Amino acid sequence: MENNLELKNNVNSVFQLIVSLIEDDNILKADEYEKIQAYKRELNVSSQNIYDIKKMDIDRILYLQFYLLLLDDKIDFNERIEIKYYKAIFGYSENEIFQLEIKVRKEKNNWREVESKVDKKEKSRHIPESIKKIVWDRDGGKCVLCGSMDYLEFDHDIPFSLGGSNSTENIRILCRNCNRRKSDNIGDID
Ligand SMILES: [Zn+2]
Repeated sequence: MENNLELKNNVNSVFQLIVSLIEDDNILKADEYEKIQAYKRELNVSSQNIYDIKKMDIDRILYLQFYLLLLDDKIDFNERIEIKYYKAIFGYSENEIFQLEIKVRKEKNNWREVESKVDKKEKSRHIPESIKKIVWDRDGGKCVLCGSMDYLEFDHDIPFSLGGSNSTENIRILCRNCNRRKSDNIGDID
């Protein structure tokens, strides 16, 4: 029991050193790696000990590290060496490290997909100039509700966010006042 507690404490101090060295600039350099290995020897802590006691924390740290390493989508020679350090320090197997890399790559791609979808949606909210011209001529260049010719805006009758399209039937001219009043009624969604 005593021994267990001592080991746990030693693992914790080694782990603290590791975290401070990694998080300082998010890079684990050769001299830092040597420093960690020496400290492990000094406190009689093995990679397996760290793995057993700190696996969840390490998973989290390594996830972020992989994310940073993969920002440019590739892992170069120096970064591969850094990954070898992580493996040696934490007692991770080749396969575990590989799975982590795959996981980060997958999630990064998912995000990219979501981002591009959002981007497309934002773009299609934009009313094409050709449509604006038809609507302008049809509505006589004035607010269809009050006839004002000041501060005119193109308005989606059925809001874009509720599925309204960019077709001429769904676009009309409103003055800013009428558009505001409409937004107030339906909760400012267009
Ligand atoms: Zn108006």
